[in-house]
Amino acid sequence: MSKFLTDDDMRGEKMNKYVKIRRELHKYPECGWHEYRTSARIAEILENMGHEILMGADVVNESSIGKPEKLSLEDIKKEEERALAQGANREYLDRLNGLPGVMVIVDTKIPGPITGMRFDIDSLPYQEPSKEGYRPFDEGYISVNKSAVHACGHDGHTAMGIGIAEKLLDIKDNLKGKIKLFFQPAEETFYGAQSIVDKGHLDDCDHFIALHLALSAENVSLRSNTIACGCKDFLSDRQLDVNFYGKAAHPCGASQEGKNALLAACSAALNLHCIAAHEKGLSRVNVGEIHAGVAANTIAPNAMLRIEYRGQTPDISKYVEERVFQVLDGSAKAYDVTYDYVDYGEVSAGKSDDKMMEIIQRAAQKVPWFRKIYFEGNVGGSDDAAVMMTKVQSNGGIGSYVGIGTDTTNTLHNPEFDFDENAIGAAIQLCINALQEIHGK
Ligand SMILES: [Zn+2]
Ligand SMILES: [Zn+2]
Repeated sequence: MSKFLTDDDMRGEKMNKYVKIRRELHKYPECGWHEYRTSARIAEILENMGHEILMGADVVNESSIGKPEKLSLEDIKKEEERALAQGANREYLDRLNGLPGVMVIVDTKIPGPITGMRFDIDSLPYQEPSKEGYRPFDEGYISVNKSAVHACGHDGHTAMGIGIAEKLLDIKDNLKGKIKLFFQPAEETFYGAQSIVDKGHLDDCDHFIALHLALSAENVSLRSNTIACGCKDFLSDRQLDVNFYGKAAHPCGASQEGKNALLAACSAALNLHCIAAHEKGLSRVNVGEIHAGVAANTIAPNAMLRIEYRGQTPDISKYVEERVFQVLDGSAKAYDVTYDYVDYGEVSAGKSDDKMMEIIQRAAQKVPWFRKIYFEGNVGGSDDAAVMMTKVQSNGGIGSYVGIGTDTTNTLHNPEFDFDENAIGAAIQLCINALQEIHGK
């Protein structure tokens, strides 16, 4: 038994061991592909429980990680040193060998269904506020890492996954088939889910479940004691960094010689936001950043736009993409500049299956904490769990992306996001109930 999982660690009625783990993860948040301490701790806790685990390159396919996200060897060293200083065990860091990600396979050795469950482990790049009256500060689990905070509840998801792993050891003898628990890096950035799919870990799964805290249903946030059994409104998400290349010139003396990349970028930004909506569903385009120019007295020879676009179905995503590139081509032509772009890849759209949502619904009915059960909820955006779910569905399997209600201090992706930790225990029980239905002998 791990020293991190003894009952002595429990402080007060609500402070059970999974809450304690969540708070520890909250204190040491790490953004996409930097989750060295987090992965090492998850692995240590799971192995001490008695699970066999896979780590690093056995979990994620390294070549699926796009260039912009890859850490240099120097950065990996630096991040490993930080993780060590923050309590990571060197043995587990060594086994990660530079790649975050952990996986457990619970194999009953009896033929049966294969379920994959995704728990995302990364944080967001904001600064958590140190102020009295904010529980993480008052109770000593505020982020100690600069510009990193668990503002999307992934610390809670990870604690749920660890709790499910532990409970599975108790009930394994009554189950058939296999259960795979993925502790996935880089949900908020890129290539996290894709790198696990590319490793082939979802190829044999016929069931898939992912959870997310604090989604919504019927246009209201999911509060404590509520649950949404699945979501069908994932949007695809694609992000590009677009670089325009022009020609510097004196803006007075030889302006006809200049090629203004800044104006091309501005024209593109305005027109990207003018792309018409699609009648068949949701689409979104956003220009989030623009950087251009060198000096007030020089025609700007360079500009960079950071853009993202989303669509509710593959057809709508394709429509938006075509329009995005027409705008980029047109803007470049109008100002006689050229452009290229860095593509961060696409997170697919997705849809939970009614059949899987019904399993979740039955499981929720047996958890007293859930007093209001919505059959369908809303993602309100994108999550790369859709990449895994779509993979399972493409092989004839079923999946669901479940919303676990919880009272929060602020909205998801706000640096002051904290939540009602009672949701952790409820979610563990929910998933155990669902796995018992799927895998019961
Ligand atoms: Zn998020
Ligand atoms: Zn999230």
